[in-house]
Amino acid sequence: MRLILLGPPGSGKGTQAQRVVDTVSVLHLSTGAMFRQAVAESNEVGLQVDPYLKRGELVPDDLVTAVVVNRIDQDDCDSGFLLDGFPRTMGQAEALGQFLEKSSKQLDGVLLSQVSDGEIVDRLSGRRVCTEPDCQKVFHIKYDPSQREGVCDGCGNRLIQREDDQQETVRNRLRIYHEETIPLIEYYRQRSLLKEFDGTGTVEQVGQRLLALIETK
Ligand code: AMP
Repeated sequence: MRLILLGPPGSGKGTQAQRVVDTVSVLHLSTGAMFRQAVAESNEVGLQVDPYLKRGELVPDDLVTAVVVNRIDQDDCDSGFLLDGFPRTMGQAEALGQFLEKSSKQLDGVLLSQVSDGEIVDRLSGRRVCTEPDCQKVFHIKYDPSQREGVCDGCGNRLIQREDDQQETVRNRLRIYHEETIPLIEYYRQRSLLKEFDGTGTVEQVGQRLLALIETK
């Protein structure tokens, strides 16, 4: 199954994607996580994307698309993938479409999480992420707390607030979402790929709605 998880920054895509891949056998590909890992490793991609991540701005289309296309072309993606955080612009959606067409592959669905801007600000300010690059588990101090405050349940490393989860950067990321990513909703709706779900409520409730959508695919 080839799926895209679409939704505003902080709508819980990362958390939900982790749950989906525990249930359905697809690979979770988060461009944000790939970039944060690249920054932590200070590799060539990491050095290029670091300033964009810090400002909460989008990495240029050519660079993101090259990273994603290269990744989904690998053998372990043959059984499917769940893209989280990509595509985010029309240019990226078109580049992905062209790549899949060339490889005679098709998307099975685009799952849109619906959450209001007010709730996004609330969620992002409470979000905490694991500092271990190979783990990157996501928690929320109110909705999905770790068992020990500030410590990852998965690997025991320290949890932090991401620099781009601070208020001014969050507002900037939401503005960019409205300008660049919202047009994709119509793009995928016209291709009969769009499935919407209510992204509000507990992690458990949202997870059930999302899995129900995937299971009807
Ligand atoms: P995320 O964890 O998905 O919120 O991504 C964190 C940051 O990585 C974003 O604020 C962007 O700077 C960058 N990023 C991730 N995915 C993309 C994308 N598809 N296009 C451009 N920039 C991206």
